[in-house]
Amino acid sequence: MYNLKLLIGIDIGATWTRVALSKPSGEVLSRTSFKTPRSGGRRTVAEAIIDEVKRSLSKHLHNVEAIGVGTIGPLDLSSGIVFNAANLPIKTFDVAQPLMEELGKPVIMANDCTAAVWGEYVFGVGKNVENLIYVTISTGIGGGVIVDGNLLVGKSGNAHEIGHIVVDASGKMTCGCGGRGHWEAYSSGANMPRLASRLIEEWSLSNLEKMSKVYESYTSNNLSPELIYAEAKNNDLLALRILLEVNKYNAAGFESIINTYDPELITIGGSIALNNPELVIEPIVSYLKNTKGLLTQFPSIRQTELGGDIVLIGAIALAAMPPRNLLKRLKYLSEK
Ligand SMILES: [Zn+2]
Repeated sequence: MYNLKLLIGIDIGATWTRVALSKPSGEVLSRTSFKTPRSGGRRTVAEAIIDEVKRSLSKHLHNVEAIGVGTIGPLDLSSGIVFNAANLPIKTFDVAQPLMEELGKPVIMANDCTAAVWGEYVFGVGKNVENLIYVTISTGIGGGVIVDGNLLVGKSGNAHEIGHIVVDASGKMTCGCGGRGHWEAYSSGANMPRLASRLIEEWSLSNLEKMSKVYESYTSNNLSPELIYAEAKNNDLLALRILLEVNKYNAAGFESIINTYDPELITIGGSIALNNPELVIEPIVSYLKNTKGLLTQFPSIRQTELGGDIVLIGAIALAAMPPRNLLKRLKYLSEK
């Protein structure tokens, strides 16, 4: 059907794994998804992907040049494995080797946010922007960074775990990783309810605040980020007071990454930011415009236009234009 060369992009998330067939231009021709296996052995995730590719793309496989993978981490890139994943019961699993063996194509693999920033650079609003950061604010907080046109990767592929930047030296909240005071422990979807509960316990609340649905959910141990943002949109005083705190930590994280990497452009994605841009992105920008803490020119900061597809598009971008710095780390490519 397609005579031109094609690419496959794969996004391995904690809940869903998504597979797309694409042209080298990034134009997606077809896509499927399935639930990421939550039980099994080291090859179970890869086998599920192989089955899906063989089932849905077998007639195009002979035209496929390369496969790009953006995956939850942490990674051991040299052997192409996910190592000790925090959000998946199968903690450690092989990705690159089984895909290469069964599908017979080179596999270019990176962590999800690294793939995402590469997607922004190759196909998105970051096209030709040499100093670019992508930040996701979702269940967790993560980032990908390009400096001087080079994708920064790190020794094992785990550079820019920006969600684990310390934003509170007092270490009030403990992060899922075990560290204290990490950005993700305050502003991520997974941890915001714990922060909100802690704040409600510390604050003396007005009667009006005690009438809030957020307070009601706190007392029934049922707080969620969705509720906090929804109530903030209704001008609920307690929700707004909580988000004022959450946004301080977001601003601290952004101030740190801008001073660290000197970007021209930062794009923001992840469900919390994409669903609530006026309550997440706008306060960050307005804080940063007023802080004296930036030692460089103010970068452009905007929502990504690739939306929830950014990791999948990023995986395609890895296959379309493999980043030089990343290829050096993928020892498994030359081991066969
Ligand atoms: Zn952490």
